Amino acid sequence: MPEGNWFTFEEHVQACCACDLHRGIRNKVPGQGDPHSPLMFIGEGPGEQEDAQGLAFVGAAGQLLTRMLQAISLPRERVYICNVVKCRPPGNRTPDMQEMQACLPLLREQFLLVRPRIIILLGATAARAVLNPDIRITRDRGRWVERKGVWFMATYHPSYLLRSPERKAEAWKDLQSLRAQLMAMKLYPDLYDTLHDN
Ligand code: SF4
Repeated sequence: MPEGNWFTFEEHVQACCACDLHRGIRNKVPGQGDPHSPLMFIGEGPGEQEDAQGLAFVGAAGQLLTRMLQAISLPRERVYICNVVKCRPPGNRTPDMQEMQACLPLLREQFLLVRPRIIILLGATAARAVLNPDIRITRDRGRWVERKGVWFMATYHPSYLLRSPERKAEAWKDLQSLRAQLMAMKLYPDLYDTLHDN
């Protein structure tokens, strides 16, 4: 992935000690995927597997995310995936607002490099950090919000879906909505035949 400013971004991530989360981690987890993808997924923070490998969404939740993308014919390598915080919170606790605020400049830097047209926020924590601190995921998931030409939608985090499989039907609706939005915006014309697919 590294090219041009991606090197600088990686340096910024690796050098960052703007909050205490970097203490005790094994690896920073900047994120990975297509560096110019029109579609970006943002989760909350790295878990144990991610911390061990330095890669985002590689544990059980990541495998579910891969299957969810496959369900709408979207290869995972065609999207960009990252988290609000780049260091694993101890014991997988939710990062606090101060930690997320400290890490947001890195997410902004990443956003400016990828320049996605659509951002999917995985879970309430990411949705609150990026979109609106008052979001309630059960109420607000699946709604599209446009800001400065970028479309945002919040949906359930795959790790929540693993714990609450009864929510998968709603997540499937959100995926269908994402697929429709990708088609409407003609973002993957090689994957979705907008004339014959629906
Ligand atoms: Fe820096 Fe983000 Fe890690 Fe905190 S979580 S130390 S802000 S990279």
